Amino acid sequence: MESHLLDILVCPLCKGRLQYDRQAQELACHADKLAFPIRDGIPVMLESEARSLNSAPPPAAGADQARPEQAAEPDSKA
Ligand SMILES: [Zn+2]
Repeated sequence: MESHLLDILVCPLCKGRLQYDRQAQELACHADKLAFPIRDGIPVMLESEARSLNSAPPPAAGADQARPEQAAEPDSKA
């Protein structure tokens, strides 16, 4: 696949630049978390054909990410 094709290939959703993954033969849009397949050298720019990049493993237990908004303050009588 010619690299200069990347200059004209944009994400069909956000019109953003795509990142060519040579090994996976995909064009990835990190804004939409989608990867469009390249079949026989032809990019398939269809959202229905795209693969979701949201394949990250679920957050491990004990991660200090989620901080539920609970009433942390004790009852203070005014
Ligand atoms: Zn996009």
